[in-house]
Amino acid sequence: MGLRSVFYYIIFFIFINNSIYSESFYVNNQYVHKICVNSKYFVVRGHNAEVCREVSEIANNYLVNIVSNFLPQYAEFPHKILIKIFQDHKSYVDAGNPEWSGGIYDHTPILALGPGRNIISFYEGMLERQLKDTLPHEITHCVLNEYFGGRRIPLWLNEGLAQSVESFASQNKKRKTMNDFIKKGKHLSLNKLFVVKNYPKKKEEISLFYCKSHSITRYLIEHLDKDNFKRFLSLVKDGLPMDVILKALTNDKNASVKKLQEAWLKSIINEERKTR
Ligand SMILES: [Zn+2]
Repeated sequence: MGLRSVFYYIIFFIFINNSIYSESFYVNNQYVHKICVNSKYFVVRGHNAEVCREVSEIANNYLVNIVSNFLPQYAEFPHKILIKIFQDHKSYVDAGNPEWSGGIYDHTPILALGPGRNIISFYEGMLERQLKDTLPHEITHCVLNEYFGGRRIPLWLNEGLAQSVESFASQNKKRKTMNDFIKKGKHLSLNKLFVVKNYPKKKEEISLFYCKSHSITRYLIEHLDKDNFKRFLSLVKDGLPMDVILKALTNDKNASVKKLQEAWLKSIINEERKTR
């Protein structure tokens, strides 16, 4: 392919993948017009073209980074993700999204007869925070969901990995909360955390669940090298028990969740001493 045709090809590609159009929806007896930006992996739908374009660009970058950082091999992301940006918290909640959430990933399994639903929703208030924290968090859920392909993703890992791509400020806050839990002697054992199937109901338990999931996931990312972490995800996907996975990854026949718990706790206490 000559240089000129490469150039035309790129122009054509950019045009197709960044097309912008408007769509109308009939809601509550009236038509609502929305702006849509179509890109390689996303359709971003909102009311402000500039915001939609910005979200589209950032989202595509996040997706490529998350896939290449965590998945065993780079795979083309097969299904488009719809990102709905609501104007404010009220319209976000009125559309049926939970009041307590800043953003949400809604997934309906891929059906044999048609595509499943892959929708990320959030609202425009505090947009900067949404772009730094909510967007990469929810995209990580999408990526894991596609990668596990219908197999069960352990809840701690799903939330832990999603939090590990949030901004430094957000992760630092979680680190501090985790340290407070440890000081109070309140922390879920890893053996219990690894089998949690449903989100806890009480506020403090939810906070502990999220902070500990984040903390142990960060510990694993930092202590396994990048390739070993990818291998870890692949073994979890295969449904192997954690003790078996830890033995396989460390070549230590005595490796266990109990030992991981001790090493993790020690590292948190050491880290806390250093920052004092
Ligand atoms: Zn989440």
